[in-house]
Amino acid sequence: AAKNAGRNGYRFYEAAMNARIADQLALEMDLREALENNALHLHFQPQFTLNEARLVGAEVLLRWNHPVHGPISPARFIPVAEETGLILPLGAWVLRQACQQWRIWHEAGLNPPPLAVNLSAAQFQASGLPEEVAAVLAETGMPATSLELELTETIVAEDAERAETTMHRLADLGIHLSIDDFGTGYSSLAYLRRFPLHKLKIDQSFVRELANAGGSDVIVIAIIQLGKALGLTVIAEGVETPAQRDFLHQQGCDEVQGYLFGRPIPADQFTALLGTPAPAPAANRLSS
Ligand code: C2E
Ligand code: MG
Ligand code: MG
Ligand code: MG
Repeated sequence: AAKNAGRNGYRFYEAAMNARIADQLALEMDLREALENNALHLHFQPQFTLNEARLVGAEVLLRWNHPVHGPISPARFIPVAEETGLILPLGAWVLRQACQQWRIWHEAGLNPPPLAVNLSAAQFQASGLPEEVAAVLAETGMPATSLELELTETIVAEDAERAETTMHRLADLGIHLSIDDFGTGYSSLAYLRRFPLHKLKIDQSFVRELANAGGSDVIVIAIIQLGKALGLTVIAEGVETPAQRDFLHQQGCDEVQGYLFGRPIPADQFTALLGTPAPAPAANRLSS
């Protein structure tokens, strides 16, 4: 009987595996189709300075509204794109689309802030990334200084020597580089110092835990101190509450991004944020 149960368990496991693989395959085919049919779009999430509540940037986030399943999170479909190599054309599309949007705002006289685009490991490690980025900038007329590329610690840790070369070639173009989800990977502090970085993004898992018992206050403080010591801008992501904002402000964090200040929104809605005063929350702190 035990043997039978084991075998059934195995069959069940195998069936579940096959179902998962079939799901992934279907998702990948649909994603490929979405990319070809322009069924993907970008959202933009504002970033503000904590001191003056000035709009200083926007993170570009990919969105996919599946015709049958509805909106699918990039946390779900980006890994699929990464496994299948689709991330290369997908990532190239995001970059071009973001630069074109920046240009549209610029042409309209709206003074858009720099845009931060997420890069996957495969994109960063593909030969010719700096040339590709330079070509898109030239084609769209977006200045390199208005583009920020978000890398993760894992990307950078895999082959630090090679990463350093690529980063220098990107930085030489005038592009800003940031480390996303900082604190969740394994950064060599020695390398952090050698890389031509501009910004550290404190991972939202630490921000979420702020002020909780046994929370991540000390980690957040340490990241802010480290960033400052290295001469980097430090931004916290996932800021949802005034208490989190106040703590970050007290600790000298430079910038914030999160639902408290603005959710990721489509380009036409983001246009309304351009050329307008920033929302009140952090600005009020100045007068208090
Ligand atoms: P990420 O780069 O760390 O982006 C931040 C994520 O946090 C976004 O999730 C954003 O919507 C979410 N977020 C922002 N503020 C808050 C907040 O206050 N509270 C909470 N709970 N969440 C907040 P999203 O848009 O679902 O993207 C998830 C991840 O997918 C991104 O994490 C990034 O790793 C990846 N991703 C998104 N777009 C792209 C892309 O174009 N290329 C690549 N390679 N990855 C992308
Ligand atoms: Mg990011
Ligand atoms: Mg992040
Ligand atoms: Mg993240």
